[in-house]
Amino acid sequence: FYPTVYLPAIIEAIEQSINAHADEITLLDQTLGDGDHVSNLQRGIAALKAHSSEYPPLDWSGAWQKIGMTLMTQVGGASGSLLGTLFIALAKAGRGQELDLAQFARIFEQAVIAVKQRGKSDVGEKTMLDVLVPISDYLKEAAAQSKDFTQLWPELVAVAEQGVESTRTMRATKGRASYLGERSLGHIDAGAKTTQLIINAIVRILS
Ligand code: ADP
Ligand code: MG
Ligand code: MG
Repeated sequence: FYPTVYLPAIIEAIEQSINAHADEITLLDQTLGDGDHVSNLQRGIAALKAHSSEYPPLDWSGAWQKIGMTLMTQVGGASGSLLGTLFIALAKAGRGQELDLAQFARIFEQAVIAVKQRGKSDVGEKTMLDVLVPISDYLKEAAAQSKDFTQLWPELVAVAEQGVESTRTMRATKGRASYLGERSLGHIDAGAKTTQLIINAIVRILS
């Protein structure tokens, strides 16, 4: 299973989805942060597209290392460094590994731990981790039940959606939104929303 083969299509799907929701997400980051989340991601996507011919199709760890470095160096803001960390950690944990579900669930968990460390944050703080952690937990559970990738897609979409919704009633304690305290209640987190859109785009292409 080499998802890397689908990378150009996945990046294209992510771009379309982020663009289609740009106004809504910008409004979220204006309400809770500084309003640049969409433009940060769009810059990252443009950089990924510019480099997409360099991603080795049969070496997903190598490809994800490049993606992580691109996001880390080209995208401003918290999200660039955190998403960059996610991909670099995926690459590192996964080097030389087969990409079956059990292995991927382990690798993904390592990558999410790296994001937590980088952000000094955890689930429940109204960030992208409120999508990433439930996804990681779901992957582990699915692997324990010996499911394979093809069985995951509808549930992954549902888990990501629940993760986004969970941020609505959270008080932000990390990132710019934390300056708002109680006033951060009642809105979903921009980074959680875009993480969901990214997951949905991946699912759409791979399923
Ligand atoms: P910035 O906040 O620097 O302007 P972005 O707007 O691109 O960066 O990204 C903001 C998103 O990053 C937030 O919506 C949140 O999901 C995520 N985020 C911010 N700080 C953290 C953190 N410490 N841990 C995890 N995620 C974070
Ligand atoms: Mg911002
Ligand atoms: Mg910013």
